[in-house]
Amino acid sequence: MGLLDRTVIARTKGAVPRQAAIEADLLRPAGLLPPAQVAGFAVTSWRHDGAHLLWILARGGETAHAIAGPRRDDDGAYLRTAAWNVGYREGAYSAELGAALGLIGQGLQGASDALGLDAAGATLRWFTRPAVDDVLEISPGKKLYVRVTDHCDEKCLFCNATEGNANIVPSKTALRSLVARIPTGQLTQVIFSGGEPTLVKALPEMVGLAYGAGARQIIVQTNGVGLARPGALEAYLPYRDRLGIGFSLHATDAALSAQMLDHPDLLRHDAKLRAIDRAVELGFLVKLTCVVMRPNLGQVPAFARWAWARWGKGLARLQFSYAMPRGNAWLNRHLVLRFGECVAPFAEAFELGRATGLRIETSQSACVPPCVMPDYVDHQDLYGDFAGRTADPERVKPEAVCGGCNWDRICAGVWRRYIDVFGTDELRAVTDRPEPAVDLDDFVQPEVLDLTDC
Ligand code: SF4
Repeated sequence: MGLLDRTVIARTKGAVPRQAAIEADLLRPAGLLPPAQVAGFAVTSWRHDGAHLLWILARGGETAHAIAGPRRDDDGAYLRTAAWNVGYREGAYSAELGAALGLIGQGLQGASDALGLDAAGATLRWFTRPAVDDVLEISPGKKLYVRVTDHCDEKCLFCNATEGNANIVPSKTALRSLVARIPTGQLTQVIFSGGEPTLVKALPEMVGLAYGAGARQIIVQTNGVGLARPGALEAYLPYRDRLGIGFSLHATDAALSAQMLDHPDLLRHDAKLRAIDRAVELGFLVKLTCVVMRPNLGQVPAFARWAWARWGKGLARLQFSYAMPRGNAWLNRHLVLRFGECVAPFAEAFELGRATGLRIETSQSACVPPCVMPDYVDHQDLYGDFAGRTADPERVKPEAVCGGCNWDRICAGVWRRYIDVFGTDELRAVTDRPEPAVDLDDFVQPEVLDLTDC
């Protein structure tokens, strides 16, 4: 199995460079910040998709979508200024829209001229991702993933960290500086992840820093092997009231586990089980995540029964995640499942949850789309509001399928790569059921926290 080269793949998902700076330096002088008026259209919202600026314009009952990016003559555009391409999307052209696009071009050109920026300068200033030290990506649901290391002692078949990893905070000093600047208490979770975070000896102290800064809930995401060492879990006891431990465990037995992790050391499985046993015994909030690909799909119901028999209510939740087609999973795409193949095993596991009271679920974003398992939407861990959008630019909600779906808010979208391979046959707009009654804790813009603003 090959691994993606981290130095080659430097991008991270959904990065929006310097939201506040774009508003102050470009959109406000250009007259393009909501609620500005442009040729009779009201600018209702804007966003940055990493390569373009996009606006939603409204006039009467009519909506139009304008798009602009630094000038590139090989890219289609409705009009070009010296530094900008401007165009529209998803809607009929009208003379009024043409006039609005002309004003958008003039406004952008004027603002970039005032700063002495040509197309290359605009690209560098507003369309290039800042250094990782300058920004933090906050995930939907106000979750902050802190990656304390890029290293890992396993090579999971599905690892998506190999295709871009945001928020690498490599030291106690960096973390101390970070927690001093961000509103930790306003986040729902601070999640220590990696790589494998327990490879970092200072992890308990780092957890303590987040705890001391008032983080409402802290999660350590781990493969568990490092926590099997005597005393390892006890180091986290002072933080137990706000600390959860999320163990990755993908099989009931060592042989299948080794296959999922591409790791020949069968003893690691025993170590993980010992660590989970101990974490339950010590009263930590314990979550198990089982990522599902072709090798372990058939074991899903048995895994749920086994976990219930071994840990019972000692588990806070058991999550079966669909392996996103990115990173290693995409390199191992012969092992990627069709959504439809997951339905029966997942349903059997969810039924066990209903019968026992154990929370058995799938994640809102690493999941089979809700319309594929509509009878089990209550088994999705819903945390973000994706109304009219997707969790990241790698996913889509194809209008031809998703148009009019009542579950738009709870759906994170479907990976473009999945659709490229398997098509959209399994998807179906949900129109016969209302949106589930859940309190979605949406995270509003900016999706990237600019530390220079904090
Ligand atoms: S139809 Fe589209 S928007 Fe609705 S749940 Fe399915 S994938 Fe999501």
